[in-house]
Amino acid sequence: METYYGIEAATGSKIAGDFELTETDQLDVIMEQAHAAYLAYQSIDANKKGDFLIAAAEEIEALGEQLISRAMAESGLPEGRIIGERGRTMNQLRLFGAIAKKGEWVEASIDTADPNREPFAKPDIRKQLEPLGPVIVFGASNFPLAYSAAGGDTASALAAGCAVVVKAHPAHPGTSQLVADAVCRAAERTGMPKNIYQHAHGAGFELAHGLVKHPLTKAVGFTGSFNGGKALYDIANERDEPIPVFAEMGSVNPVLFFPSALKNQAAVWGKTYAGSITLGSGQFCTNPGLIIAIESEDLDVFKESMRDTLGTIASQQMLHDGISKAFNQGKSKLESDGIVEIIYAKNEDNSRLGGPCIATASGATFLQNPQLQKELFGPYSLIVACKDEAEMLAIIQSLEGQLTGTMIIDESELSNFSAHFIALKSVVGRIIFNGVPTGVEVATAMNHGGPFPATTDSRYSAVGADAIKRFARPVSYQNCPSALLPNALQNQNAQGIFRKVNGSFTNDSIQ
Ligand code: NAP
Repeated sequence: METYYGIEAATGSKIAGDFELTETDQLDVIMEQAHAAYLAYQSIDANKKGDFLIAAAEEIEALGEQLISRAMAESGLPEGRIIGERGRTMNQLRLFGAIAKKGEWVEASIDTADPNREPFAKPDIRKQLEPLGPVIVFGASNFPLAYSAAGGDTASALAAGCAVVVKAHPAHPGTSQLVADAVCRAAERTGMPKNIYQHAHGAGFELAHGLVKHPLTKAVGFTGSFNGGKALYDIANERDEPIPVFAEMGSVNPVLFFPSALKNQAAVWGKTYAGSITLGSGQFCTNPGLIIAIESEDLDVFKESMRDTLGTIASQQMLHDGISKAFNQGKSKLESDGIVEIIYAKNEDNSRLGGPCIATASGATFLQNPQLQKELFGPYSLIVACKDEAEMLAIIQSLEGQLTGTMIIDESELSNFSAHFIALKSVVGRIIFNGVPTGVEVATAMNHGGPFPATTDSRYSAVGADAIKRFARPVSYQNCPSALLPNALQNQNAQGIFRKVNGSFTNDSIQ
């Protein structure tokens, strides 16, 4: 059996421990196991599914220092960030554990029979959301815990009642394996069907493609680059049986600076944005990669403040060789293409460090060169100086789908720029006022998706309670014997959950 190993992000050296690579001829067995586990999981009480997810959070926490140090070594991310991300991961598992237990996510709806209806008797029809089947999960390198082996995709798919097969990210195989073993221990401890959660390492794309193509696969959850997400989406579309692919990909997260707000605090905003662009070496999907304003002396002050602040910020470690190479090549290409003017660039001798880079271009140049909308993953941002409000609006209207859009605007100018607001709102998943896009609050009202190419399906995202809906489909039961009805559709509403009965929400039992 072939193996591979983890690489220390800071040095490029091997980390002790080999991991067996799954061969493509094992795919049928993996997917048959996942399918059998999915069928068996349907007989498991929702409360127990919730216990499983909560136990997974406990098992991850119990890994303690071993997990923290492994994730730090493989990702190069600092201790505070990894500890925070572990907390977020456990919270996500607990959240979906609670959602599974509560049971309202199934959106139960009951239309009772009316045998006296004319001209035909009305049947009893009851509907709820049910799991899709085995789900394949791909995590990203920049969130080795929260978007990885037991991230939002895994937690929501298991809560929905699906079996999960994770394809480990090769940038953090040890972290992924530790977390996967913890989830398997939790599954065993809480009496879940064998193989309800499986984890596979693969070198190259063959395993990933095989998992997506497999006929027993019923959905895909992906977080990562546009190229990776789009490739898997295209492969899924070539299948005989179409399946949903929820790919959350990159974004340049445009930030609009309006004249009065810029005039009031140009230097302060320059400093704030230098911090946001370099946060985590720019390796966040919400990194502000595009700043749009009308040319003015205030914009010059903003640029100068940003340059000065960047000069005081030490370059940070990038996640892995692939990402640092792509970032350095992207920076060099900006210089050789000469389309944009580079106004700040720090080039580090150590290529693993992400030296920040800021460029500027006119509005006309931006409109003529759609490639300037592409994400350069790392501490980079392009400042577009528009000649007037109309050009600014044309630029917003030309933007591709984004995870976020930000407006730095004074109360007094809101009505002047309502068209800009409407144009921005129509291409983003979250709109932020007078702040920075980096930092995603995990809350019920949070949306962390956006129109294509930010995601392949903007209706739901891996962040927040609605993530569970991605892995479920409605099933109607007509005149179904009570003994076969799921809990939420029984006459006796034992859990007291809210459901729709004959069109109105209630948590009562049916007489
Ligand atoms: P990535 O290179 O796309 O990798 C993600 C996963 O997909 C890995 O397991 C990778 O395996 C696999 N993969 C990539 N290309 C593939 C292909 N053509 N065929 C099959 N499998 C493929 O992403 P990353 O570099 O780790 O993550 C950084 C990116 O993620 C950034 O663009 C960032 O903006 C984005 N991101 C988005 C969000 C969001 O919520 N929207 C959150 C975090 C990160 P291999 O390495 O084996 O190729």
